[in-house]
Amino acid sequence: MSPPDDAAGSAELDRLEDWTGLDPRGRAARAAEVELAAARAGDTATEMRARLIQADVAERGGDLKQAVAIMWQVNEWAHQYGHRYLIARSHLLLGRTYRNMGDVAALLEHVVTAVEHLDASVPPRRRLPYIVKYADALTETGSIEAARERYRQAVELARYSTDVRDEILVLNNHAYAEYLSDEPERAWALIERMRAAAAARDHRLDPNDLDTVASVQIALGRYAEAEQTILEAITAYPEGHQEADALPEFLLTLAVTRRLQGAAEAARDTLAECRSLCAAHGHGEILVRVLQEQAEWYAQAGDYQRAYEEYKRFHAAEKRVLDEQREAQARTRQALFEVNEAREEAERFREQARRDPLTGLRNRRYVDELLPALIGRAQANGTPMWAAVLDLDHFKQVNDLCSHEIGDQVLVMVAALLADTAAGLGEESAMAARLGGEEFLLVFGGYGHAEALAVLERLRRRVAAHPWRQATGDVPVTISIGAASVLADSTHPTLLARADAQLYEAKRAGRNRVRTAGQPAGAIR
Ligand code: GH3
Ligand code: MG
Ligand code: MG
Repeated sequence: MSPPDDAAGSAELDRLEDWTGLDPRGRAARAAEVELAAARAGDTATEMRARLIQADVAERGGDLKQAVAIMWQVNEWAHQYGHRYLIARSHLLLGRTYRNMGDVAALLEHVVTAVEHLDASVPPRRRLPYIVKYADALTETGSIEAARERYRQAVELARYSTDVRDEILVLNNHAYAEYLSDEPERAWALIERMRAAAAARDHRLDPNDLDTVASVQIALGRYAEAEQTILEAITAYPEGHQEADALPEFLLTLAVTRRLQGAAEAARDTLAECRSLCAAHGHGEILVRVLQEQAEWYAQAGDYQRAYEEYKRFHAAEKRVLDEQREAQARTRQALFEVNEAREEAERFREQARRDPLTGLRNRRYVDELLPALIGRAQANGTPMWAAVLDLDHFKQVNDLCSHEIGDQVLVMVAALLADTAAGLGEESAMAARLGGEEFLLVFGGYGHAEALAVLERLRRRVAAHPWRQATGDVPVTISIGAASVLADSTHPTLLARADAQLYEAKRAGRNRVRTAGQPAGAIR
């Protein structure tokens, strides 16, 4: 139903989404510019896409609350306007965010929804990160079998790409998944493929890939090879060391490989280097593992007294780090909860603004928003759809002869009969609304002319036959109905105008009857 998501003219957004080289701040700044330009041009879809890129950057930078709020906002917009690509993209990012808080069930749920919303308009290369994330999510929730199938699918998609990093990404993630699932042999086969793919295209594996290689080598007991891999990673990426945890991670792994090879001195020196780096730069989580490794080292050297002391230190540090992590997670959850609450409140407000307070039916605002899409869908699918306008007959009399309060009660009762009819049609596209005053609307799909007429006749008779006497005494309550079906060129205003014309005909013919557009008159029986 939605356009093919502005596939043209979005090359820059594609690049910003698939970002590999640009620094995050540059990426966010550029996305902000695109957002502004799109807002000026009234191109909301592009605006939302650009906003999502900024949320992505913010989340990676740790500004979770802000990021999640934007992700949900874009997600809501995308659902409302049926923008499949942005539904997919926002769920992908939400999945990653929840995963980073340790909620792998939510990760899987979001990623599945994301994948479900990728349609044929998304080219293979851009589907790839989704399928890989899906496979990763399956791995993390313990379904390696299902994950394998998806990684295979992702390898197929990578064939469409000229960028070798796409194939490397799939193979690396699959290898790591096998490693996590205690299948180092399988992991190794994938690493060999990854290395061959890199060599064939003269591509240098990045620290993340090399880390996978070393982990698998250690799992296979190939310590010397693992040491070589780590040394390669350290020398190949001097620039990567200032940032993040790369160097201390590498040094720790290096110390482990050296100890396992029996190179006690070298292992001790490397570990000391790693330890001072952690102390200087506050890599608390790595420091814990350094203490553990230190204990292993003492134990291997036969110094059980020191090993024991080091273990005690390790456990104390581990507890500290866990507590801190728990606290941070609690804060994050609290932030998410607040975002959710604000979202729900906005949702309630939106919902309220689209309901008629007297009858509880949808109001005209809701109809104005939804009807164009319903018409478009009926036209696209070639299914019949009807709009029927209902108006109470001589309703002024009820107000005048009874009271305005009784008039209100009558409106509420008619609304209830109408809502019941809509519910009975069992169609999700059946919609009952109060257009204003004593005028209502029923929209429903899937019925041919004769059946639609029968539905409306039943409703008309039901209103007329209702025991009104208790409320209105001798004043009768009936309705007139004018209906029109969606034609190939119908729009929201022309459809309602044709239904209105039929309503006028029904009134002119004496009221308490149904008239339908372009069809033989619906007779009263
Ligand atoms: P007909 O449609 O059959 O031509 O006659 P009518 O008397 O129903 O026509 P008209 O549309 O002129 O009058 C509608 C009346 O509905 C006028 C207004 O006072 C009344 N009305 C509109 N909204 C409400 C409401 O919320 N509550 C009550 N009690 N009356 C309302
Ligand atoms: Mg009326
Ligand atoms: Mg009226």
